[in-house]
Amino acid sequence: MDKNTRICIIGGGPAGLSAGMYLEKKGYENYTILERNDRVGGKCWSPTYNGRRYEMGAIMGVPSYYAVHDVEEFCGITHDGPKLNRNYKNAQGQVIEPFEPKKNILKIPRLLKMKKQLKLFGELLETKYKGYAINGHRGVAEGRYDGFAVTPGREPVKGENPNLKDLALPFSEFCKKNGVELIQDIWIGPYTSFGYGYFDEIPAGYVVKYLDFQTTMNFVKINLWTWQNGTQFIWEQLNDHLKNHARLNSSIEKVERKDGKVYVTVNGAVEEYDKIIVTAPLHIPGTRTDGQKGMDEYFDVRDDERELFSKIDYERYDVLAVETKPEDHPEISYYVFDNMVPEKLGHLMVYYRRWRDSKEQVITTYALRKHKTSTEVPYEECKKMVLDDLKTMKNPASNVVNEWSVYYFPHIFSEDYAAGWYDKVEAMQDKYDTFYAGEVMSFGDMDETAEYSRELVERFF
Ligand SMILES: Cc1cc2nc3c(=O)[nH]c(=O)nc-3n(C[C@H](O)[C@H](O)[C@H](O)COP(=O)(O)OP(=O)(O)OC[C@H]3O[C@@H](n4cnc5c(N)ncnc54)[C@H](O)[C@@H]3O)c2cc1C
Repeated sequence: MDKNTRICIIGGGPAGLSAGMYLEKKGYENYTILERNDRVGGKCWSPTYNGRRYEMGAIMGVPSYYAVHDVEEFCGITHDGPKLNRNYKNAQGQVIEPFEPKKNILKIPRLLKMKKQLKLFGELLETKYKGYAINGHRGVAEGRYDGFAVTPGREPVKGENPNLKDLALPFSEFCKKNGVELIQDIWIGPYTSFGYGYFDEIPAGYVVKYLDFQTTMNFVKINLWTWQNGTQFIWEQLNDHLKNHARLNSSIEKVERKDGKVYVTVNGAVEEYDKIIVTAPLHIPGTRTDGQKGMDEYFDVRDDERELFSKIDYERYDVLAVETKPEDHPEISYYVFDNMVPEKLGHLMVYYRRWRDSKEQVITTYALRKHKTSTEVPYEECKKMVLDDLKTMKNPASNVVNEWSVYYFPHIFSEDYAAGWYDKVEAMQDKYDTFYAGEVMSFGDMDETAEYSRELVERFF
């Protein structure tokens, strides 16, 4: 593609900003990033409390976050945040150690079985499901893999593997098929509590691409990255280091694609581009009170776009930041496995204490309030349940200082995954001078979205 191509990027979150970085690295400098908010970072939102930044959105990374590492290198920063730690409680608020055989004498046979299944699962992923971990979902439904290895060098990899079609199954079925049901007890910690849905509804492809074996073991061993000034700082730094900074407070009213050009009406003026990369939501079922819209609401969408994007759903994942009295402050972060099942929708699944050295900080809480087959628990009801749960946990909140219910983890379900949704969308890349990137194209975390942008630039520019 001509290096002077005028490229519009919608969204100044990890996907949009890293698209800018990778384009720039490849010699494309004629790009414009349009961001609707008055800040960059998207779901990496790190406000300040008591002079320190806390996390309302993304919190952590793992050593295999190679795209995030590219950003760190580009900006000369590193993951310098507080070391994470955690413990577990049951729904009654008692501290438990679910993986410690000595504390669970009756569960010893189950724990031994789980250990065996864990080993088997690791082997299956490497052999039967060879090619499972690469970024994005291209080819999976057809039993192929095609992309780049999850290594610092990201070597191109490609091959046939009909077993990969199993990744369309809901994760619980996938585990059952492979005789490794018990590993769900391990995977659920960094999956459901992080808002990515329940194992009986989410295709295995999402679960194992995000929580590949290596990443899950990093979670188990708490070998994790955080950032002193929050994850938002990563993207603020990237924005500062880009030749073209994101244009904040950009309100896009209309996008029209005709005669090989893209016309974007932004803040009342029409701008002309050659290509457009969309990292903003492609489709949002229903309406949202925060004014967030799907691209199908302001683009001249074509029938194939409308049809495919209508399949996208997202998670209702709520975050509260609360103060506690010093005597009620939790000594550590807690996971509540009992609440990570669809029957406990709306309940507190995890709460996070960021700094070990202070009680003068907020605690953040996390809850899911929708399952594929259920009606949504209303926002206020969920908030009340979480605050009640904190009381049960003996860490009652004295005040709510911040709250967020964000458009979270857009994804499709098994039927569409198996029917080749991803291959159909990938085949549309550049068809209307439009590229689709961001969470739904890979997975809803900082690295998968940034990595997808890297691959998009690698493949098409
Ligand atoms: C509570 C929570 C916890 C999380 N924890 C982690 C974690 O620990 N580790 C991790 O890696 N990830 C985590 N994530 C996920 C991670 O933050 C997201 O996956 C990542 O930010 C996605 O990047 P993105 O650029 O695709 O989308 P977003 O971050 O959503 O950015 C999209 C951007 O587009 C902008 N936009 C939207 N519509 C328009 C429009 N019409 N015009 C212009 N701009 C528009 C938005 O304002 C936003 O800035 C968490 C997220 C949340 C909410």
